[in-house]
Order: sequence, then C-alpha cells, then structure tokens
Amino acid sequence: MTPELQEAGAAALARWREKQAVDGSSGGRSASFGRLVQGHEPDFAHGVALYLDDITVSFDGFKALNALSLAVNVGELRCIIGPNGAGKTTMMDVITGKTRPDLGTASFGANIDLLRLRENDIAQIGIGRKFQKPTVYEQLSVFENLELALAADRRVRASLFSRLTGTQLDRIGEVMTLIHLAPEAQRTAGLLSHGQKQWLEIGMLLMQDPKLLLLDEPVAGMTDEETERTAELFLSLEGQHSLVVVEHDMKFVDQLTEGWKKVTVLHEGRVLAEGTLAEVQANEQVVEVYLGR
Ligand code: ADP
Ligand code: MG
Repeated sequence: MTPELQEAGAAALARWREKQAVDGSSGGRSASFGRLVQGHEPDFAHGVALYLDDITVSFDGFKALNALSLAVNVGELRCIIGPNGAGKTTMMDVITGKTRPDLGTASFGANIDLLRLRENDIAQIGIGRKFQKPTVYEQLSVFENLELALAADRRVRASLFSRLTGTQLDRIGEVMTLIHLAPEAQRTAGLLSHGQKQWLEIGMLLMQDPKLLLLDEPVAGMTDEETERTAELFLSLEGQHSLVVVEHDMKFVDQLTEGWKKVTVLHEGRVLAEGTLAEVQANEQVVEVYLGR
C-alpha cells in the first residue's frame, strides 16, 4: 500500500467514525468514490498477470534497468534474486507507477497499460506492494490497522461510511488468521515484533484483495521461524494471487520454489538467468556476480 493510500484510508476512517458518533447513519456520500478506474478490469484470459518488455530506466545516463523483459503468470509465485543494485526495487517502482521508464512497455493482464496509470490507480486496480520497512500504524490495534486498509479501498470505502458488514468482519478475521495475528487482534501494532509488523502489513495489503502482490525483501530482519511461517503464508496465497518476491535469503527462496518453480536472476538491470533455483545456482555467471560473493 502506498503512503498516500494509507493517508486516504486514515482520513476516510476518521470521517466515518466522526459521522458514526454524530448521527450513526450513513449518508449518500458514496457517489464520488469508485469512478476513477472503472473499466480497468485486467484481462487475464491469456494467463499472463504481468508483462514487462524492454523496460529501460536511466538515472543520469546510468541504466538501472536495461531492456528488462519479464512475464509473470496468473497465480504464479515468482522469486527474483540478484545482487544489490541489480534493479530489483526499480523494477517494482516501474510496475507501481513510482518511476516512469524511458523505454519499454508494462502491462497488467493483456489490456492494462501500466505506464499510463498513476500510482494510486495502479494500487486500486489490484497491484499491492510491500516495501522493505513495515509501515503500519503503530498506535492503532491490529484490528484497526486492517480496518483502515479496508477503508483505503475505494470499492469498499462507500460501505464503510455505514458500518462494517458481516462480510468485512469475516474478511478481517480470515486475514488475521492467515497472518497469525488473530490472538493479537486488540494489541497495539507498535508492540508487535518486527516480523509480526511485516505480517500485519501483508495483511493490510490482502484486505484490498490484490491480484498481484509485490514483496521487496519481506523476510529481512525476521527470525528463522518467522521466515518459515512467511513462506507458508506466501505458498497459501499462490494461485489466488500472483506474487513477485524479491529476496536474498536462499533458504526462503528454496522453500517458496519447492524445487520446481522458476526463479529470475537480475543483474545490471536485466535478466541474467531464469530456471529452477538449482539451475540458476549452478549457472557460472550467476555464481560469479551474485552467489559466489
Ligand atoms: P536493487 O533493488 O536490485 O538492489 P535498485 O533498483 O535499488 O537495486 O537500484 C538499481 C540501481 O539504480 C542502483 O545502482 C541504484 O543506485 C540506482 N538507483 C536507484 N534509484 C535511483 C535514483 N532515484 N536515482 C539514482 N540512482 C538510482
Ligand atoms: Mg532493492
């Protein structure tokens, strides 16, 4: 979730609560929401969730991405590895509209041109991003953080002006269970462990039911046990969501790929190798630029 979305969500939640306190009723205020990206349903009929082609990003002549091409299938869990500076985060910046490439095309499904959408719109059409540092509301409870994430979603914001529906409550419960935080529902987020905060942020993303999830070094700083549980969580999301996971932790990548899934190695802004983890680990160039460090 982008900080802007979180702010919008916080504002919406505050307004909703104010209104609840004043008259307990819902107004006809939903009209202005939900229009911005109507008609932007991704077309996944061809099985491709994300398609990047020939993407080049230059910073003062230095190519952070250099003719990068990559396709991720619907429901696929794709791990991306590569040395620092390879362009992994920049790739996510391009997908989420934070950085505009100089060249290339990027589409979501067969029909949505990501390069023509603004950052908030990209989040709204179903691309969720987890940054390295958890950005949860420390002073709010686990439950309230998830409630807030729901409010940040334009599709459901209108209904939040009335009351949480049973379906929404169920969804919050489901997500809390998924992220292992159900027993901590009323706990202040600031008191959670680093790993639990990371899970909460993932839960906040899940509240918006993204079709594609981008996770940048999600287990950095986690304990071994938290890392293992995170892998289990991602494996349980595979299929219903497409996931792109950037990680340096090879044990984690091994757990996620289960011996057969495709791993992409980025180096100097482009794809250096693709294959199973065993295949790329045996690739001499990959060993030289990354694994052999
Ligand atoms: P990774 O995530 O794989 O470590 P990044 O995508 O963060 O790599 O960075 C790729 C390269 O682009 C690095 O050399 C980095 O210094 C450079 N870079 C990234 N963002 C910027 C920026 N805003 N301005 C200048 N250089 C940048
Ligand atoms: Mg990075």
